[in-house]
Amino acid sequence: MDGAISGSRNLQALETLESNVRLYSRSFPAFFSRARGSIMLTESGRKVIDFLSGAGALNYGHNNHRIKAAITEYLASDAVVHGLDMGTPAKLEFMETFSSVILRDRGLKYRFQFTGPTGANAIEAALKLSRKVTGRQNIISFTHGYHGLSLGALAATSNQFHRKAGGVSLSSVTFMPYDGYHGPDVDTADHVRKVLLDKSSGIDSPAAILVESVQGEGGINVARKEWLQSIQAIAKDTDALFIVDDVQMGCGRTGDFFSFEFAGLSPDIVVLSKSLSGYGLPLSILLVKEEVDAWEPGEHTGTFRGNNLALVSATAAINIYWRSQTFSQGVHQMGEFVRRRLDTISRQHGNSFAVRGRGMALGFDCQMAEIAEATARSAFEKGLIIERCGPVDQVIKFLPALTIDSETLNQGLQIFEESLAETLKQTGPSLRETLYSSQ
Ligand SMILES: *Cc1c(COP(=O)(O)O)cnc(C)c1O
Repeated sequence: MDGAISGSRNLQALETLESNVRLYSRSFPAFFSRARGSIMLTESGRKVIDFLSGAGALNYGHNNHRIKAAITEYLASDAVVHGLDMGTPAKLEFMETFSSVILRDRGLKYRFQFTGPTGANAIEAALKLSRKVTGRQNIISFTHGYHGLSLGALAATSNQFHRKAGGVSLSSVTFMPYDGYHGPDVDTADHVRKVLLDKSSGIDSPAAILVESVQGEGGINVARKEWLQSIQAIAKDTDALFIVDDVQMGCGRTGDFFSFEFAGLSPDIVVLSKSLSGYGLPLSILLVKEEVDAWEPGEHTGTFRGNNLALVSATAAINIYWRSQTFSQGVHQMGEFVRRRLDTISRQHGNSFAVRGRGMALGFDCQMAEIAEATARSAFEKGLIIERCGPVDQVIKFLPALTIDSETLNQGLQIFEESLAETLKQTGPSLRETLYSSQ
């Protein structure tokens, strides 16, 4: 049977069988059967370059064969895969490796809390712990922030579309303006400090300040080092816990293992998920400072905490990529390269677009959702998977695997460049005028 036809038949079967809630199979209408590194293969044999990387869960690429070797060996040995949170050699090895390779060199010391497998569950745990430690309810979150969609995490997520889907009132979170929210001339940390120190501002003293150092879903908004340092200081001055949500920007995405290293931060709680397992296996943890580890045994539990297979791949990823500086330096260099390329593309179109990001998390702000949507659609037709983000999905989000080779990276960027040019050519003059006059 013709592969393309079987592909579309399979897509129709998905439509009848799977809930309306499905999302990515709509944005990328194909049937994917295999993947290796930064290439996904459709059932009909088409090769597609992946710049989405499982929304940041595949920093080391699909089926990374060096990491795969560790988990196939583990499976073959009948070692414990599921053990709730019982003691296993795999768990101990993960914690010891993470502590010695990642934490010690960075002057950080944390305990590990294995949460349920999703990023959202880890955020829930972080918020619960902060409330328990401080005896306060309010959480400070930021405009355009994204922290997951279970009710506690959703309350700290800004997007109205997602908040409405919660179906109940979402309370005990106060949103503050993120860095740059009022433009480059306003330091929003001044506002945060003022209202949190003012006992008559009407804002309840917070249990925690929860922040992303680069907002992934929110549009690749980058916080400055000084701003992040101010926010950490404000948390300290208000006796609130300082939580960094490094679910998407951690594990090397910004070039360093943690996205906040460049600012020398020392959060009370760090939340990690997405690329932590290194292989796309579900694994989430909190790194918790000993003095805030106030849990009673079993107070935050869950059946799938610390899955051993995911811990084995996580340990392998750390051993392979983080024992020396080479990998990190390569990511920084590649990030600079992509940024320059995107800057050039923006210049070719009269600098109508903003390029933002850090390391290998880059955003190309098309200003208008229509342009971003048509560009991403056209890119997929030409063989590139690329996602959109931002308040109205107007930002094209570049999250290539950190292990991508330069040829594939260049091919993907080329496809993006052509897709954008084509979109702008096809766009009616009125839309183009709106775009240029909005500058
Ligand atoms: C994806 C994400 C989450 C939620 O993780 P899930 O595994 O989807 O629940 C939380 N915070 C940030 C910053 C994320 O990018």
